[in-house]
Amino acid sequence: MIQAASKTHSAVQMVRTALERAHHYQDTHHIFTFINDEAALAKAAAIDQRIQRGETVGPLAGVPYALKDNFLSPEGETTASAHILEGFTSPVTATAVQKLEDAGAIMIGRTNLDAFAHGSSTENSYFGPTKNSRDPERVAGGSSGGSAVAVALGIVPFATGTDTGGSIRQPASFNGVYGLKPTYGTISRYGVVAMASSTDCIGFFAQSPEDLDLLMRVTAGQDPYDLTTLPDYYQTAPAETAPRRIGVIKDFDNEAVDPEIRAALQHKLDLLRQQGHQIIELSMPSLKYALAAYYIIVPAEVASNLSRHDGVRYGFRSTKSQHLAELYQNTRDEGFMPENKRRIMIGNFVLSSGYYDAYYLKAAKARTLIIQEYEKAFKQCDFILTPVSPNPAFKLGEKVNDPVAMYLEDVMSVPLNLAGVPGLAIPAGETKSGLALGLQLVGPRRSDAALLQFAKTLEESH
Ligand code: GLN
Repeated sequence: MIQAASKTHSAVQMVRTALERAHHYQDTHHIFTFINDEAALAKAAAIDQRIQRGETVGPLAGVPYALKDNFLSPEGETTASAHILEGFTSPVTATAVQKLEDAGAIMIGRTNLDAFAHGSSTENSYFGPTKNSRDPERVAGGSSGGSAVAVALGIVPFATGTDTGGSIRQPASFNGVYGLKPTYGTISRYGVVAMASSTDCIGFFAQSPEDLDLLMRVTAGQDPYDLTTLPDYYQTAPAETAPRRIGVIKDFDNEAVDPEIRAALQHKLDLLRQQGHQIIELSMPSLKYALAAYYIIVPAEVASNLSRHDGVRYGFRSTKSQHLAELYQNTRDEGFMPENKRRIMIGNFVLSSGYYDAYYLKAAKARTLIIQEYEKAFKQCDFILTPVSPNPAFKLGEKVNDPVAMYLEDVMSVPLNLAGVPGLAIPAGETKSGLALGLQLVGPRRSDAALLQFAKTLEESH
């Protein structure tokens, strides 16, 4: 739980403990790309002094946190776990980071991810995979694997993530913590390495809905540097006891979902029924096109966003080259991971003349249908409850050579990103073998606060 420093609760002590744990687990789980030892302790000491002097400090004063390594700040290199960004120290600070720091939070380390956030296991990191918090032979989930594991192992009470197509919710569920992907446009993306600009969202991992609510209050809001940000609307929702209508989607291929996840969903639905909530069956037939549409739209945007990495402006530059074109080629060839290259190629293909209408435009139309389907669904119900992914954490290496199997991981998480609606991964017990299980609660656009409030009822109903 997040607890700010006070006269009796020292920031230095909190940060020191977090750093010790970070180093301890780094050997076994490979969570961090950078650990911020000195700067973090110095900041904590400054906060303790301010508290001793009786000065007012922010709501996150002295609270240690982990930063996904695709958030820019001058503390440590920002690599996005990609070789091509190695050596890049950012001159700017992401708006979300600035807001956290202004509230007193202290970054103790940068966390590992799939390079450029492309992936669902953190195995696509140039620095090697992060291990699952429950079973080090299994994946952490991804792309924000390091952040999820840092929270699950109690190194920090919260960590940042980005969710373009499930990268917060899936690792949260693989490690038994809460993970929030807010409504598109809630938190500024300024200073965050862009993956797919029309679906990228900033969010958090934490141990409770209350903590996520606090983090949203600190970071949400309009930013002149990110014109997609919505005007301030985030405030804690009032406690609700009225019965809610909870939707379950009947079109998902239930057979493809692991039986233990199906049982966890059933269990939660039974509890909700006992609490007096109404369960409503929804038909959302267009969702079956979401994964295909996502893997056209997202690579198209990836190809465009990654074109800036040419070896001239940031990070790594290949030294083998004789002339400029070769410098671009060699840098990109050596600097990107295979999955990054696959997406750049798919993206350029679906945008190319002759194929644009058949692929990109079709996907854009499917996206509109998906948006409309959510709008219709939220006339019938208040929230939707679904699995996050079809299976719990899988073995390291199991899917890494099969991109389609890896993409199928995202079948239940990407529809939300295409529609811009918020989703909250909630812990839902564990498998017989002790792996974490998660479910996701989905709400209409801008229902983030109500979603967190409702999640508290589920928490109490364990
Ligand atoms: N697993 C998804 C993908 O590979 C999601 C990634 C993300 O949300 N950053 O695209």
